[in-house]
Amino acid sequence: KRVLQGVFLSCFQKALLHKQQTQPLLELPMGYKEKEMTVEMMQKREERARKRRLQAAKKAEDSKNQTIERLTKTSKAKIKSMRERKSKLSQSPMVRYRDNALGMNISFPSGVPAPTPTPPSAPPAAPVTCGVTGCPNIKRYACSKSGVPLCSLECYKRNMLLVQSAA
Ligand SMILES: [Zn+2]
Repeated sequence: KRVLQGVFLSCFQKALLHKQQTQPLLELPMGYKEKEMTVEMMQKREERARKRRLQAAKKAEDSKNQTIERLTKTSKAKIKSMRERKSKLSQSPMVRYRDNALGMNISFPSGVPAPTPTPPSAPPAAPVTCGVTGCPNIKRYACSKSGVPLCSLECYKRNMLLVQSAA
């Protein structure tokens, strides 16, 4: 087992070594300027990688910001429309009725007169007088048959005579 492990390790080491040997060759196929190029290229590569990372980070950040913005905008728009609706409501003339511990109150928008209490009803019509000709008395009854206003039993009888004679 130990031997196998050893073999594996040595293989692994060989592979690593091989990689180390082949990699610079693949990356740096240049001749005598190999070393300077390596540093320069590595720096360039590093720079490019850094830029890529930055760009990727920026992109991620941007998309994150966009999402946040979108969400914020949505909620902002919602809040805005709610506020607008509210202010519109408060701007539009409204009669407000409040009934709380302080008491009941009704407020009217400026320019809208508060309704005045209903004026007292028109004075009662002039009292109806007796329907019997020549009688100035105020009506107290009405004939059940003819509907003529009457003041007394006397006038009732007189009215009855008139109705009967007319019939
Ligand atoms: Zn009468």
